[in-house]
Amino acid sequence: MKFENSLTFARQLDRQNSLKSFRKQFHLPKVKGKTAIYFTGNSLGLQPKSVKNSIAQELNDWAALGVEGHTYAKRPWLYYHKFSKKALARLVGAKPIEVVGMNQLTVNLHLMMATFYQPTKKRFKIITEAGAFSSDQYAFESQLKFHGIDPSEGLIELKPRAGEFTLRTEDISQSIHDHRNELALVIFGAVQYYSGQFFNLKEITKAGHAAGGYVGFDLAHAMGNVSMSLHAHGVDFAVWCGYKYLNSGPGGIAGAFVHEKHATNFALPRLAGWWGHDEKARFQMKKGFNPMHGVDGWQLSNFPVLSGAAQLASLELFEKAGIKNLRKKSVQLTNYFEYLLTSIDGHAEYFSIITPNNAKDRGCQLSILMKKNGRKVFNQLTKNGVIADWREPDVIRVAPVPMYNTFEEVFIFCEIFRKAMK
Ligand SMILES: *Cc1c(COP(=O)(O)O)cnc(C)c1O
Repeated sequence: MKFENSLTFARQLDRQNSLKSFRKQFHLPKVKGKTAIYFTGNSLGLQPKSVKNSIAQELNDWAALGVEGHTYAKRPWLYYHKFSKKALARLVGAKPIEVVGMNQLTVNLHLMMATFYQPTKKRFKIITEAGAFSSDQYAFESQLKFHGIDPSEGLIELKPRAGEFTLRTEDISQSIHDHRNELALVIFGAVQYYSGQFFNLKEITKAGHAAGGYVGFDLAHAMGNVSMSLHAHGVDFAVWCGYKYLNSGPGGIAGAFVHEKHATNFALPRLAGWWGHDEKARFQMKKGFNPMHGVDGWQLSNFPVLSGAAQLASLELFEKAGIKNLRKKSVQLTNYFEYLLTSIDGHAEYFSIITPNNAKDRGCQLSILMKKNGRKVFNQLTKNGVIADWREPDVIRVAPVPMYNTFEEVFIFCEIFRKAMK
């Protein structure tokens, strides 16, 4: 499509968009009494209006039923983890037996590594992208130390080529191949939180398996943002959080994917809890852990129902909108954003976009590397009602979310940004 640099054109794109009605389903934050331009759905997704009633349902059932709510609540709490499976499965491209909502992201990362990172004398290396999110770095480092391995030997962090900001797929595959004799695990952030690069999950998985390792992904910035096919690619495991693009609320329930090929492999080591035990025998409280089939067998604790209720309300919107439709709008929205930014006179002097410029290699986020006055420009954005994200020393991350952001907002952002720069 040929874009035009005008408010009229932006509004026209909004009018023509089949998902435009979803914005009304969300509470939009205000700055000084005016609806903010909220481009931080990559950090905390907005609240669907339906969340309140969904949580109220559980509060009412708790009030009326007490412990009996486990069985007699409208959505019986005992089976709560099952209610989100279909929607979660669709988001990652999986079967329901492969996905479950549980815990928090970093906890799930450790749980998955307890299973899929089993270093031996010969195979002990973890390969990841350089500059991974801090929590992931700490998880990798501590897992290595936990197994008595020096992180400087065991952790391979892949950096972009000199002068480049993102990794090339062929370089990733080559590095994985180069470490094939010592490789235990490949783990990448599916969408890199800083650069916004959407890695080629299929190729990375292929390379990791060819090199004899397991392959997992952190979907924190991918879940609800891009469409995925984890099952088809044969990815071993993945983890995500619920509060970013999934709009499940602050500290909202996270989740995990374990491929069906591992569903009944009970020889895999794992850390266990009663919620992972065969549900028919769970309340017999007997000795001897007998895991559920599939990822359910990795559950530890009983389900956080209030947090899950918020997530169910949000997932209903994803089911209605469809991740493929969301992605389609997202590609157009971010392409338009990029077009407007690069139409600014003399833009190269002020900033460069470090996110890949090919839609298939990114999600909705653009990371703008400021070459001068970065912090000042960012403060101007804030002053003018934009909620965006500043990363030291010089990057502004903006994420127009297809579920609730508009082409008009993208246009207005660029106007504010252009004026702030000059
Ligand atoms: C947001 C994010 C986290 C946060 O971890 P929590 O356990 O949810 O606090 C971790 N890793 C990545 C890649 C993230 O983007």
